Amino acid sequence: MAKKASVKKTTVKKTTVKKTAVKKTAVKKASVKATGVKKAVARKAASSRAKKFVYFFGNGKAEGNRYMKDTLGGKGSGLAEMTNAGLPVPPGFTISTDACNLYYERGAKLPPEIDAEIAAHLRRLEKAAGATLGSTQNPLLVSVRSGAKFSMPGMMDTILNLGLNDAAVEGLKARTGNGRFAFDSYRRFMQMFGSVVLEIPKAAFEHEFEAVKTAKGAALDTDLDEAALREVVEAYKSVVKKKSGKPFPQDPNDQLAMARNAVFRSWNNPRAREYRRIYDIPDSIGTAVNVQMMVFGNTGDRSGTGVGFTRNPATGAKEFFGEFLINAQGEDVVAGIRTPQPISELAKVMPHAYAQLRQITTRLERHYKDIQDFEFTIQEDRLYMLQTRSGKRTGYAAVIIATDFVKERLITPKEALLLVDPEALSQLLAPGFDAKEWKSIPAATRGLPASPGAACGQVVFSADHAVEWANQGKAVILVRRETVPDDIHGMWVSQGILTATGGMTSHAAVVGRQMGKPSIVGAGELTIDEHGKQFTLKGQTVREGDYIAFDGLTGEVKLAKVSSQPSEILQVVAGKIKPAKSDIYGRFNQLLTWADKYRRLGVRANADQPDQAEIAYMFGARGIGLCRTEHMFFGEGRIPIVQRMILADNEADRRAALNELLPMQRQDFYGVFKAMHGTPVTIRTIDPPLHEFLPRREDLMVEVAKLEATGKGGKELAEKKTLLARVEQLHEFNPMLGHRGVRLGITYPEITEMQARAIMEAACQLNKEGLKVVPEIMIPLVGLVKELKDQKLIVDRVAAEVMKEQKIKIKYLVGTMIEVPRGALTADAVAAEAQFFSFGTNDLTQMAFGFSRDDVGKFLRIYQDKKILEKDPFATFDAEGVGQLVAMGVQKGRATKPDLKVGICGEHGGDPASIHFFHQVGLDYVSCSPYRVPVARLAAAQAALSVKVGD
Ligand code: ADP
Ligand code: MG
Ligand code: MG
Repeated sequence: MAKKASVKKTTVKKTTVKKTAVKKTAVKKASVKATGVKKAVARKAASSRAKKFVYFFGNGKAEGNRYMKDTLGGKGSGLAEMTNAGLPVPPGFTISTDACNLYYERGAKLPPEIDAEIAAHLRRLEKAAGATLGSTQNPLLVSVRSGAKFSMPGMMDTILNLGLNDAAVEGLKARTGNGRFAFDSYRRFMQMFGSVVLEIPKAAFEHEFEAVKTAKGAALDTDLDEAALREVVEAYKSVVKKKSGKPFPQDPNDQLAMARNAVFRSWNNPRAREYRRIYDIPDSIGTAVNVQMMVFGNTGDRSGTGVGFTRNPATGAKEFFGEFLINAQGEDVVAGIRTPQPISELAKVMPHAYAQLRQITTRLERHYKDIQDFEFTIQEDRLYMLQTRSGKRTGYAAVIIATDFVKERLITPKEALLLVDPEALSQLLAPGFDAKEWKSIPAATRGLPASPGAACGQVVFSADHAVEWANQGKAVILVRRETVPDDIHGMWVSQGILTATGGMTSHAAVVGRQMGKPSIVGAGELTIDEHGKQFTLKGQTVREGDYIAFDGLTGEVKLAKVSSQPSEILQVVAGKIKPAKSDIYGRFNQLLTWADKYRRLGVRANADQPDQAEIAYMFGARGIGLCRTEHMFFGEGRIPIVQRMILADNEADRRAALNELLPMQRQDFYGVFKAMHGTPVTIRTIDPPLHEFLPRREDLMVEVAKLEATGKGGKELAEKKTLLARVEQLHEFNPMLGHRGVRLGITYPEITEMQARAIMEAACQLNKEGLKVVPEIMIPLVGLVKELKDQKLIVDRVAAEVMKEQKIKIKYLVGTMIEVPRGALTADAVAAEAQFFSFGTNDLTQMAFGFSRDDVGKFLRIYQDKKILEKDPFATFDAEGVGQLVAMGVQKGRATKPDLKVGICGEHGGDPASIHFFHQVGLDYVSCSPYRVPVARLAAAQAALSVKVGD
């Protein structure tokens, strides 16, 4: 049936819209924060040093600062800011993102001036460090770290301990008196350099490492002594020689240049590109490279390394949160090879360093006015800070943290609005399990609760399978030993992620939180056989395709299919929980109340039925921007009447069918008006081509053929044949550009008459009952002012009749949708007949691009891969092109009628980036699906706070 098909289509579209919206806001939030002042500071810095590509930090002073993320990347800007604040940061320098872009422009070469600038900064670093690169007495070792403007966890490469060679390693041993440490550092360096720069598979090195471990009977990496590590180094040298055809590079300057270029190259590795595609990070911004003096967490038991957050990033709770490893280097904590200890343990083993760390990170949180995600290393009891950035958090945590910060007077409500990604609010509306059912099932195991939310689905063991199954419409849970950055596409499509190893800051945990995916990590009782596509748990075997469920907030995993239930907030909205009983609802509501104070844009909802309208109202929609009357035609028992109307070959029969629809529509409208408590309701007259209400031509042909073949067709056959004849009559080659919208109202004026009557009768009735309702009747698809004029005459005539019959005069408006480009181009003329405009940006985008909304999927991805289009224009509004039609429509419309009310009702109405544009162009309101209303309220406030109208 046509009905089913079209319903399906819309759901599919909605989900894609949602997804893209999620992606985008990660980026959006940051740009929202770039207020005028910050921009000016950054600009000044950039212009006064027009040709500078390298920025130094060290000895308490840095050339960069926190506002220079564009140039220095997030990591570089954080290191500079911390240095300026007097924190213990190892010195170094940042090679700017501009250098990366030049590197690509020049065909993978850096201009010689930049090479010279780097050499000069290296000398400066050697002075600050009191050590020299490649020295056999006191060698300087550096890390070469990637770092773009937006953090891309684990997507690009970093190399540690650079500067070591056969001579320098002896120098390091002599200076530290620690041969084990020197050779451990060397083998780490060779392994990283070998895999990242020389592109030798990691496994080749791991194989040798394991061989030595086995030969020495060592269980842990730390069990290997100097002699064993020397063997590892020799083995690595043969690996390099064999795989790359050349000996391991011994000149530290060559090493540095090669590592730097490798970091530049890692900007374009497949997983980094995929990550940028998901999060809508432009490919053009490039990465910076940070060269920084090494400090060592692997010198022994008075050293270590760790990562942490100033608050719990999963729940938002105010607690110091993190993990560390004794006698280890940076990569070990996230790699999941050794299980790290909770940071509270650090207080016991190194109380002094712990106290200092707490003091510094608290200060950082106050300084940045945001939860910080930091990295540190302790070398012989001395603490060093290696990174700080805004911590990625779940939507739930975002709301808790922002409202807590206000309570703690760390920020104002206005600042709190900028701290929450609007998409966080839609995460809060995600479902949970039915509490009773959940409790009744015994937990099979427990893992670390890395990202909250209820997840249930069929088990898959690889990212590719996850994608394959999800494409078949299955709900899947990705189960892995540990996830790696290459799994990102599979994580994205899964209901949840479950891993057997890794801690709360492992890859799966960080990415899961960021995506808002329920995740449990480190479920150590799972024995996973990824090749055999099964895992075992206490003797039980779970195979690919079996159902499991887990709660990302508690860490409990159950081997069952468990139905989920609406989120706490939805339950409050539905009246099942009292608002005062729900802490999270209170905060959610508080935040949105603040948003309402600052936003200029009105927020309405697209809703067709009274129950949807009620939800929209509770979420704060103050008005309906689009009520699609034809959706009501699909209601219980109505389709046959609608079909009778369509099949009628004369006006009288058509009117008879319409008369049957009239009371039903009147009741629908009555319900919607009532649910909206007198706020404006825009109702659109019939829009889709009529064949959408009839069975599919192909189906009918088959049915007719079947009946004819069996020879017992009779009355049924005759009916089907008539239906088929009408369907063929209505058949169009290009229905989206065919007989639809206002064109229907013009050819069948009695449809417009019936709908206008139903709207007016319902509105008059409610006004009599004391609810002041001002209906807004909207004519779709107008490209010619005379089309609107024709329909307006009908509406006005019917309205006058109804008001006379009902003996009441009410206010009503007649307006139009601007969705055909010609409507926008002639908006001044159209406005003479319209009391309001609503931009239908779905059709407007379709017609401006000439892309069929229903077929764009066939080529969009290729367009994006080839960078012909960056974003899906049906998800994020194309401000540059289609935006001109909107801007022109607003301007021309208001030139005719200065107080013309203008809104937008396409899917873009709930997309934060698009909302910024609609704010700027001076619309009165946006209208979106009911569940997006909270997102739109917050996005509208952010738009108002960061951009002034007419800016
Ligand atoms: P990522 O972005 O993948 O975290 P980083 O550049 O931050 O990559 O570095 C990877 C690891 O190496 C981190 O744990 C970091 O703290 C550590 N590290 C980086 N530079 C140094 C350094 N100069 N001294 C000690 N450890 C370092
Ligand atoms: Mg890092
Ligand atoms: Mg339309």
